[in-house]
Amino acid sequence: MRKTGLVIDGRFCDHDTGAGHPECAERISVLQSLLSGPEFAGMPRVQAREARRSELAAVHSDGHIEAVAASAGRASTYFDADTPASAASYSAALLAAGAAVELVDAVAAGSLDNGFAALRPPGHHAERGRPMGFCLFNNVAVAARHLRAQVGLERILVVDWDVHHGNGTQHCFYDDPSVMYVSLHQYPFYPGSGAAGELGEGDGWGFTVNVPMPAGTGEQDYLAAFSRLILPVAERFDPGFILVSAGFDAHAADPLAAINLQTATFAKMTDALSGLADRCCGGKIVALLEGGYDLEALSDSVSAVISHLREPAVFEAPDVDASAVLRKTAAALEERWGKL
Ligand SMILES: [Zn+2]
Repeated sequence: MRKTGLVIDGRFCDHDTGAGHPECAERISVLQSLLSGPEFAGMPRVQAREARRSELAAVHSDGHIEAVAASAGRASTYFDADTPASAASYSAALLAAGAAVELVDAVAAGSLDNGFAALRPPGHHAERGRPMGFCLFNNVAVAARHLRAQVGLERILVVDWDVHHGNGTQHCFYDDPSVMYVSLHQYPFYPGSGAAGELGEGDGWGFTVNVPMPAGTGEQDYLAAFSRLILPVAERFDPGFILVSAGFDAHAADPLAAINLQTATFAKMTDALSGLADRCCGGKIVALLEGGYDLEALSDSVSAVISHLREPAVFEAPDVDASAVLRKTAAALEERWGKL
């Protein structure tokens, strides 16, 4: 069994989004209950700490950081219609980004094999200059920049299976060939970006991979995207570390979206990426929570991911043809990566 580190912190619940908001404190409460259960009781824990200004500034503008800081102590601040902050949101957001850095540091140093962080608020919609879509600071981007600049790794892979496209993460690394961003997401859908033709720019061309999925897509097409496109491209990229933007809103039970993954699908995607990590980077993979709004599906799926980080199974490619969109994306990427 692998040494899988966990992050969870009750202070993530202090980010109060108001009555009826899907990105609610109960998302963390149910995971606290899950992770205090007997199955996970003995697992190593990594303590959250506040992100340093320099860690945030590697991703976000000064104006962005100041705007979120100014929300501290105020009953409510709205960054956009979906993205409120309460008095303690700044503090929770600092802890979420800092916890991501602490966990990837422990895995990079080898004191842990891999890890999962139950973070809140989520991060992948946060842009360089503004919070957006329930997200205040871009946790996965902060972790990736840290691995590049401070740990000194040359190539980082970010795989984002949240049902929404991670616009903030894509934009952060769009011209950067050292961080490959791969997203599977419902499309067309919020936030509007993530078309198959968005492939990066300049030196980063071919290092952004979007796999847009029509509403109603299920497990077979997701697994085919891994076996036919994501794994072959990522293996040629040869990452030194794999980060996962692990949202669970592509689950069939999720109230916000219309993709039909099952709990077991998240286990299979974890197996696929654990196998890739074993081949490329000594198994170094860290998953950070993004969305996921059906509490039971969230808890069950997080449990499945953690169990498969500890004991990965061999990933089995599905016996289906690649969809038209997958073939089109592969064809576009062949200029950078060769025959796929
Ligand atoms: Zn989402």
